[in-house]
Amino acid sequence: DALTTDAEVVKRESESIKSFRNKAEKFAFQAEVSRLMDIIINSLYSNKDIFLRELISNASDALDKIRFMALTDKEVLGEGDDTKLEIQIKLDKANKILSIRDRGIGMTKDDLIKNLGTIAKSGTSAFLEQMQKGGDLNLIGQFGVGFYSVYLVADYVEVVSKHNDDKQYIWESKADGAFAVSEDTENEPLGRGTEIRLHLKEEASEYLSEDKLKELVQKYSEFINFPIYLWTSKE
Ligand code: ADP
Ligand code: MG
Repeated sequence: DALTTDAEVVKRESESIKSFRNKAEKFAFQAEVSRLMDIIINSLYSNKDIFLRELISNASDALDKIRFMALTDKEVLGEGDDTKLEIQIKLDKANKILSIRDRGIGMTKDDLIKNLGTIAKSGTSAFLEQMQKGGDLNLIGQFGVGFYSVYLVADYVEVVSKHNDDKQYIWESKADGAFAVSEDTENEPLGRGTEIRLHLKEEASEYLSEDKLKELVQKYSEFINFPIYLWTSKE
């Protein structure tokens, strides 16, 4: 049975809290979101590639939002690199981290808390129901919970985000019932936008291959109207 009891969730939540950044504010995932993440992180589903489609689609949505706002107020785009409406995929082979960043609208602290964990969308329970009936995980995006597919390939995820109306924040979670949000005082300023950092599971190291990522970007960028760049950090 893929469902976890609330007691289990609470237990793992208290274990996970120890591992967050100092001074981070801790939050419990809404119960159904937590169950969904539990299913995803333990899934033996073979088509794990779909996580990249979901991240590219979210990056594209965020870029669409800032571009739309800029139609009536050019100032929102900022200056320099911030004006480049693009998506970057970065490979850090040494640390086994795959990052996807965009210069889209970004998320405020409040957005991070609400959009990535505490407010369940109507699709969450519908998707859980589908999964219990043996439904296809590939449909996750249609239920409005595509972000959580990152846990098909990662066991620890950080979301660094900067919105025009707030400071830069980091959201982090090991998909164990809890997440934390803290002001980002350690990373370089993003300017504006979001960087999703996937600490890849041991068995997901194939996503550190340039060839594999090029193939996936080709496949998933067909209807994306922004340039996508692939970078590899020097080892
Ligand atoms: P959906 O894209 O269908 O709304 P997701 O689970 O993919 O559902 O994403 C949840 C929410 O998280 C989005 O609606 C958005 O508010 C926020 N979000 C996710 N990724 C980004 C991003 N790269 N930039 C800004 N907001 C994001
Ligand atoms: Mg999405």
